[in-house]
Amino acid sequence: MEFLNTPIEYLKGVGTARAEILKKELSIFTFGDLLYHFPYRHIDRSQVYAIKDILPDMSYLQIKGRITSMKRVGQGKAERLVAELNDGTGVMELVWFKGIKWIEESVKQGKTYLVFGKPAEFNGYINMPHPTIEDPEQAQEKLYKHIMPLYPTTEKMKARGVDSKVLMKIVHHLITDKRFEVEDNLPPHLIKKFEFIPKKEALLHIHFPQSNTLLAAAQYRLKFEEFFFVQMRLLRYKVKRTQTIAGIPMPNIGFYFNTFFNEHLPFALTNAQKRVLKEIRTDVKSGKQMNRLVQGDVGSGKTVVALMSMLMALDNNHQACMMAPTEILAQQHFETISTLINKMQVRVELLTGSTPAKKKKAVREAVLNGDVHILIGTHALIESSVQFKQLGMAIIDEQHRFGVEQRAQLWKKNHIPPHMLVMTATPIPRTLAMTLYGDLDTSAIDELPAGRKPIKTVHRFDTNRLAVYGFMREEIAKGRQVYIVYPLIEESEKMDYMNLQHGFDELVKHFPMPRYQIAMVHGKMKAQEKDAEMGRFVRGEAHIMVATTVIEVGVNVPNASVMIIESAERFGLSQLHQLRGRVGRGAEQSFCVLMTGYKLSSDSKLRIKTMCESNNGFEISEVDLKLRGPGQLEGTAQSGVLDLKIADLSKDQDVLKEAREAAQLILQHDPNLNHPQHEQLKRQLISYQQKLKWGHIS
Ligand code: ADP
Ligand code: MG
Repeated sequence: MEFLNTPIEYLKGVGTARAEILKKELSIFTFGDLLYHFPYRHIDRSQVYAIKDILPDMSYLQIKGRITSMKRVGQGKAERLVAELNDGTGVMELVWFKGIKWIEESVKQGKTYLVFGKPAEFNGYINMPHPTIEDPEQAQEKLYKHIMPLYPTTEKMKARGVDSKVLMKIVHHLITDKRFEVEDNLPPHLIKKFEFIPKKEALLHIHFPQSNTLLAAAQYRLKFEEFFFVQMRLLRYKVKRTQTIAGIPMPNIGFYFNTFFNEHLPFALTNAQKRVLKEIRTDVKSGKQMNRLVQGDVGSGKTVVALMSMLMALDNNHQACMMAPTEILAQQHFETISTLINKMQVRVELLTGSTPAKKKKAVREAVLNGDVHILIGTHALIESSVQFKQLGMAIIDEQHRFGVEQRAQLWKKNHIPPHMLVMTATPIPRTLAMTLYGDLDTSAIDELPAGRKPIKTVHRFDTNRLAVYGFMREEIAKGRQVYIVYPLIEESEKMDYMNLQHGFDELVKHFPMPRYQIAMVHGKMKAQEKDAEMGRFVRGEAHIMVATTVIEVGVNVPNASVMIIESAERFGLSQLHQLRGRVGRGAEQSFCVLMTGYKLSSDSKLRIKTMCESNNGFEISEVDLKLRGPGQLEGTAQSGVLDLKIADLSKDQDVLKEAREAAQLILQHDPNLNHPQHEQLKRQLISYQQKLKWGHIS
């Protein structure tokens, strides 16, 4: 332990200058930090390949051969150095675009070299761009003969001579030091069950694997461990919460819920909605605080579930609130809910940033004295000036738009924390949900209301715009409404993207007034203007709604049946899915048209293809995670998923599942980790907590 806490400058081969770089560039301060700076890949240098056996899709490899010629080709920027390498089985071209002079000076024709790199295909031939070249005599060092680690570095490090190879050497010094010892940190029963290699060996083989099998074993153990500790933390947090926090007991289902259900509910609930309501019901009467995440695809009917949950609170003499991320959405929830219960004696109020000061004051007072039963709003709800008489249920819609901090703020609105229901319409992959919301109970509304026809999604190029306009006219003639969404609001430097104003002007030419009415909403409008325009569309007065992504979440206009997304290649998958979810809300066949230019990256192509083939938000989110990685997905920043060093949420789903189940099982049998086998585990979890508290200060 002591050894791994040694400051990095004391490691053989480091010294003050390199230590400075390591601290600055990689946040490596101690021996332990270096030990956990894992290679991102390994090159198999245990064997030398023959040129005749090399295929263009092979990974990094090494060849040993003679450089038979070397010359500069091309001019100016296209200038490159091309060398021919002959190993007796064949000839391959090596190509450099940069550092030409240096290579020319250091590499001698006619001499034999060890060449490392990744094969590529060029004009039908296999070549190797930018290989590294070494004198085979000098490369005889033991380290190089094995499976060799490649470490993440930065440009600045490389410029100052600290590259992957230097890291490899100092890591080697570290793990061959006599004092290098690592305590095993998993309970023996887990090690036995999953047949893990010991921790120390895992660390040795993750850097310098003696075989590919041992590398895999090391990766498995370290990935498991990483997931396992995240899950232990989340689940222990949950255990503690249920042990220490009292919930508001809500034993009654009564007047409000039943009256609404029997007399005012305008449709039959789907089975999924019923199931989720039952789960919520079980939670709130348990005497413990509910903390539940409801995931439901767009249009699955979360609003009514939210309302009915709030009515449960009312039936037990408590107030309820619902927070949404945007004004438009809060407004719409307010209207939907007010309409649904307008025949009942329930007072619903709206509180947002743009509520006039006088009205705000009145609402706050009525909330405080208990006259308001249900309060709907934006972030304005969590301001400290908003005090409830007795808040029993707090709902957050589109949870992924809020931070953990804001969730916590709602807790404080009552002396016993209210029951919490968080809802998200951007389904996230199960693995991510387990990590982001691992301390919550989860429900899924995995069924759409009956009679919905799946949205038909097609891809059209910009050049087919006139045909798309024709289609829009047909749909409008049938009484439908159309959304057109643009990614940008102002002229950008890149004129190849259609922007809103330009699109609007163009559109007016093809859909002249007064026959066609076009509404427009964008982020730079004042809330009032937005609402006025939105209102025209909601009431059916406008045929077409031209908008930026402000309409992305939540908006509900069942008569709108066509969604046209301009420059669709510029949107992420979950955003496309959200936008598409604005249509298909009524009984009519709905359509989504993805407009793009001809030039598409392979990622864009995959996104468009996925959208055309799938209507399922959960499936789509899996592809999104693979394409973008967890760091780019909303809501991941504060979650700790980004601290994962080796485990990968999209590739290592099975390992995560094992780790979560293992953590659950342990806490089920030993919630306070008092068993001797869990001693080390407990210590590590506690020390992590302390690090969290103090770590940011130093
Ligand atoms: P989301 O889950 O995306 O928030 P909403 O709550 O806005 O979905 O519901 C989408 C539409 O489906 C609304 O018009 C709502 O009235 C309707 N709806 C909800 N539940 C049902 C149901 N069980 N049967 C029929 N329509 C429903
Ligand atoms: Mg919604």
